[in-house]
Amino acid sequence: METILVTGGSGLVGNAVKTISIDYTGKYNFVFISSKDHNLLHMNETISMFEKYKPSFVIHLAGHVGGLYLNINNKVDMLEKNLLINFNVIKCAHDFKVKKMIACLSTCIFPDKVTYPIDETMLHEGAPHFSNDAYAYAKRLIEVHCKAYRENYGDNFICVTPTNIYGPHDNFNLENGHVLPALIHKCYLAKQNNEDFVIRGSGRPLRQFIFSEDLAKLIMFVLEKNVKDSNIILSVSENQENSIEEVSRIIAQKYNYEHMIEFDTSYSDGQYKKTVTNQKLMEILDCDFTFTTLKEGISKTIDWFINHH
Ligand code: NAP
Ligand code: GDP
Repeated sequence: METILVTGGSGLVGNAVKTISIDYTGKYNFVFISSKDHNLLHMNETISMFEKYKPSFVIHLAGHVGGLYLNINNKVDMLEKNLLINFNVIKCAHDFKVKKMIACLSTCIFPDKVTYPIDETMLHEGAPHFSNDAYAYAKRLIEVHCKAYRENYGDNFICVTPTNIYGPHDNFNLENGHVLPALIHKCYLAKQNNEDFVIRGSGRPLRQFIFSEDLAKLIMFVLEKNVKDSNIILSVSENQENSIEEVSRIIAQKYNYEHMIEFDTSYSDGQYKKTVTNQKLMEILDCDFTFTTLKEGISKTIDWFINHH
């Protein structure tokens, strides 16, 4: 059986791939790697991982990842750690003759000043938003690195670009997490302690959200399908955009939270919106795909959070 090696196997998306991997039982041998197994900041540990597992396929998800406020306050780490991890993994995927690799970008690395909706061709057409420029430039180099290997050596290295992801196993840290897990944790505390539910920023920015297990299914689809595209946006449609205030109200409703929702505008809003089109994905999908609704996905995520924290 051929091996699919999943870096970032202990994270939000890695766990979602693990959950859906039961659908592929008997077809692939999945290996899920965390930083405790192999610290991919170091080339020697990355080499020993590839030597040990000799993967036919790699889903590269590992990264130093977090929400807006982690990005604003930790630019050196966001740049250096992601550069090192991505360089090591991509180089080894070539040196160890991996048949196909899927590497993960993000819709937050597109230019700040663009025309909407954003599509795959626009990645390098301007500077990213200042709040996450360090992370964005490190991630953009994944695309450059994979393209170079494709052009010089014919390597089958494909990038996928997910929009904001959420689901079970997310990072629910109040300071460093992405907006949905941070607010799920905050509303839980507000309900428990009879306090106000405080949202950072104005609540007006717009985001597209994808449930982690939907994303995992799409990643496996791209891995198995013979796609000619080198970068594919994995997102709900451009019409399925919600304001931060709307998602806060969905969270509050699930908890039956009835006190005040407040907006602390001393915090940055980050990028106002980064609306992407999923047209390319829709063109290559040869099956019906139903995205989990935000309400259903938030409900599942809150149930998981309550059971695990
Ligand atoms: P996550 O939950 O923060 O998980 C990060 C994963 O990377 C963990 O498994 C972590 O292992 C691993 N990792 C970190 N440093 C490592 C190191 N030095 N060596 C080996 N492994 C290391 O991240 P995620 O949200 O699943 O993100 C997965 C991918 O999707 C990333 O490429 C990210 O850029 C991209 N993405 C995420 C979002 C989002 O909203 N979350 C949106 C768009 C794109 P440990 O558990 O051992 O630390
Ligand atoms: P982004 O989508 O890459 O900007 O990252 P996030 O997932 O961190 O979302 C940031 C947006 O959510 C900004 O508009 C923030 O003002 C808003 N937001 C509101 N409350 C929070 C919070 O507690 N944590 C985070 N990370 N963002 C919040």
